[in-house]
Amino acid sequence: MNTISSLLNEDWHERYRRIANLNIRSSIYDLTNRCNLRCKGCFFFSSGEHIVTEEMDIKKWEHFIDKEKARGVNLAILIGGEPTLCMDRLEAFYKRLPTYCATNGLIKVSRDKFPDMMVGISLWGGGEDEKVLRGKDTFAVSSKNYEGDPYTYYLYTVTPRQVGKIEPVIKRIVDVGLKVHLQLLSNDESVDGFYWRQGELDDLRFEMDEMLDHYPQTIISSKYYHEVITTGMMLGRRFGWEECPSVTESLDTRKPPVRRLIHFYRWAADLKTIHRCCTSATRDCSTCKDGAAHMSWIMVNKREHMNTTRDMQNWIEVYEMFAKLYRLIPW
Ligand code: SF4
Ligand code: SF4
Repeated sequence: MNTISSLLNEDWHERYRRIANLNIRSSIYDLTNRCNLRCKGCFFFSSGEHIVTEEMDIKKWEHFIDKEKARGVNLAILIGGEPTLCMDRLEAFYKRLPTYCATNGLIKVSRDKFPDMMVGISLWGGGEDEKVLRGKDTFAVSSKNYEGDPYTYYLYTVTPRQVGKIEPVIKRIVDVGLKVHLQLLSNDESVDGFYWRQGELDDLRFEMDEMLDHYPQTIISSKYYHEVITTGMMLGRRFGWEECPSVTESLDTRKPPVRRLIHFYRWAADLKTIHRCCTSATRDCSTCKDGAAHMSWIMVNKREHMNTTRDMQNWIEVYEMFAKLYRLIPW
């Protein structure tokens, strides 16, 4: 059987050592049911995940976060709704745990209060696509709020209409001194013209690879991630419910058990309800393009990548990408 030492030279071994002991235990929290946008295709609203009674007592949030910390969580990923509508809850997490805030960027997080909190700003394409899907060109606002911020990147959800048009969006991001990570739209609300065809995905893979070559300082990504997310395949296996690692632990009844994120939960804003997974509770898993779930799928399957040096290097690059997205290692 291959070992890490037999597969990697000294440089790659050093890169492996840098990530090997990170021991990440993440969970996801809906900070609120409200949002200041209503994007077409938002998984949160389209799946009805917002229909719970929001906990309004900040003391209960603080107690809940303490319990999550005691459960072993060492990375809190805050989504919603729009987390920045609830700065007190955001602060309660930030004071207790390494915290990542997924936001549309319309409200600026104070860097006096949250100096090194990671912020990921959602972006759904160029200005025109954003107007169609989100009702406004959010970049025009978010880029002013976060220009040059060293703890912020754009999470660019590429739609089928964006294929062949990514570069101008990347250039806008370069110009405001921020980073970007790419993922794919899953079209949860069946918006006409936003379904994927395999030919488009093949073209997109090529385009994402090319962008990564041209803008390596701006794009946080890896070519293996591009391959897996556009084909839905990893080492001959197809992504879907039978493989997904991002399922809430207590709802995971799959037999035999699959490789998964340890102790992962996704909590609703009532602090009681749990959702099925990191994304839409009603999505057909065979159509799921969720970037984080694909990334985690690779990460939890380390042993399967120990057949060849190239496979192991691919695995390291994806793990590094994940670690950079949360600044667990430097950009
Ligand atoms: S900004 Fe995010 S949470 Fe709000 S509607 Fe859009 S996708 Fe949904
Ligand atoms: S919708 Fe996606 S993330 Fe959720 S369980 Fe299915 S495959 Fe996993």
